[in-house]
Amino acid sequence: MLEQNLEVNKWMNNKIRVDQIEKYFDQGKCFIDQQSIADALGETRNPDLGKVEDILQKSLAIKTLTLKETAILLNVTDEDTLQRMKEVASQVKRKVYDNRIVTFAPLYMSNLCVNNCLYCGFRRDNSDVQRRVLSLDEVKKEVEVLAGQIGHKRLIVVYGEHPQSDVEYMSSTIKEIYKVRAKTKKGYGQIRRVNVNAAPLSIEDLKILQKSGIGTYQVFQETYHSKTYQTVHPKGTLKSDYLWRLYSMHRAFEAGIDDVGIGVLFGLYDWRFEVLSLVSHSRELESKFGVGPHTISFPRLEPAASTPFTQESNYKVSDQDFKKLITVIRLAVPHAGMIITARENAQIRREAIPLGCTQTDASTRIGIGAYSDRYADQEGQRQQFYLGDTRSLDEVIRELANSGYITSFCTAGYRCGRTGKCIMELLKNGEEGKLCKLNAVLTFREWLDDFASDETKTAGEAIINKELAEIKLSMPKIYPKVIEHYRSIEQGKRDIYF
Ligand code: SAM
Ligand code: SF4
Repeated sequence: MLEQNLEVNKWMNNKIRVDQIEKYFDQGKCFIDQQSIADALGETRNPDLGKVEDILQKSLAIKTLTLKETAILLNVTDEDTLQRMKEVASQVKRKVYDNRIVTFAPLYMSNLCVNNCLYCGFRRDNSDVQRRVLSLDEVKKEVEVLAGQIGHKRLIVVYGEHPQSDVEYMSSTIKEIYKVRAKTKKGYGQIRRVNVNAAPLSIEDLKILQKSGIGTYQVFQETYHSKTYQTVHPKGTLKSDYLWRLYSMHRAFEAGIDDVGIGVLFGLYDWRFEVLSLVSHSRELESKFGVGPHTISFPRLEPAASTPFTQESNYKVSDQDFKKLITVIRLAVPHAGMIITARENAQIRREAIPLGCTQTDASTRIGIGAYSDRYADQEGQRQQFYLGDTRSLDEVIRELANSGYITSFCTAGYRCGRTGKCIMELLKNGEEGKLCKLNAVLTFREWLDDFASDETKTAGEAIINKELAEIKLSMPKIYPKVIEHYRSIEQGKRDIYF
């Protein structure tokens, strides 16, 4: 035991590289200026409502807002103006992403962790949790269920921070996921995009991760408020280093990963401060690397087994504020994908998606090994927190289709090199949208044939017919090719995309 601890400590000692933080400073300073953020919120406390419309027009032109503009929106309390903001947020989403929504599943690989985050069920000191790291064979079994029975094409793989789940482990598990061909009714299912949520890594480790073929690399700052950060991430842990985490995405870009995801765990500090910080982070990435975050996540603090902090926080975000913060993020960073997860219950998801969300998970299980061993999820002891929505992918897709959304299983973008700056430019000028529309139809047809219940198939086909009619009208030249591909898919051909 003592030897084991020494090994873990040795591994931890070499992790944080000060040179890979400070090199990104501007004149010795970090890009999150705590005082300016607090000041921007204070100075705009009674916003001039006349200015709001100008700001909304800037969002509609798909331009990232400044801190001051975002602060004005955050301080709006007038009901009519709030309603107008929600309508424009919806329009912005439609302009960039149309009526598409992307679905994915989280796959938790390990819950061993050297950190002690007060809010997390996996924290080191929580002795009520059963610890486990999936073997490659177990990863394969999980993917067989996800890709073969449910029909997912995208995963976000999640790792605790521990020598047993270091970058070599991440890389081998990701390669294993891509290898799996799972038998389905008509052919085989496969995971075509693996996004990663893991601890901050060095540039050298990120290069290894990039080579394994990942999609987006996500690290949530949890809270940008440095004082709160120190409180919830106890001293002596790797995660207690605020700046090491803050510059994760800078290192990712330098390592060649250009799809990055940022996020906040809402409920740790004042949500307005966190939204402004997310915008600062987005602007910093845009100015340094020419491209903002591919996605923004906004998990809310959920209860977790033997984790009293989750009940005690003074900064819990109400449903009303949660919808407002989603609206403001959509308006402030118009091109970013926005992820709402099954932490939220079905009703909140129904209300939040039209405000600008672009991705959501379904059939979600967050216990280690819980897709192939259903018992693992029920005991709560392998979960990081409790879920609000456990509906199946089939149910979620049916509801989305009945509300006018097409679920896209398209993963063509990153497989064709349309990532980072390239995809952001295409999104801003509407070009990517056209390709996405075609690929959404093709991949949705594939999913309906392989996995949908009869009821969902009916709802899905109504949307597909509407989409095909629009494509015929707006892209007449390419329409015959779309129909040709569509027929091939109906006859059993798979993985066709533009
Ligand atoms: N260990 C890595 C890390 O912390 O970066 C991997 C991700 S962690 C397993 C995934 C995310 O879950 C965290 O970044 C945090 O935002 C979120 N999370 C942790 N505890 C939570 C809770 N009680 N409720 C909701 N989300 C939580
Ligand atoms: Fe570990 Fe991540 Fe949980 Fe913190 S949030 S205890 S780093 S798994």
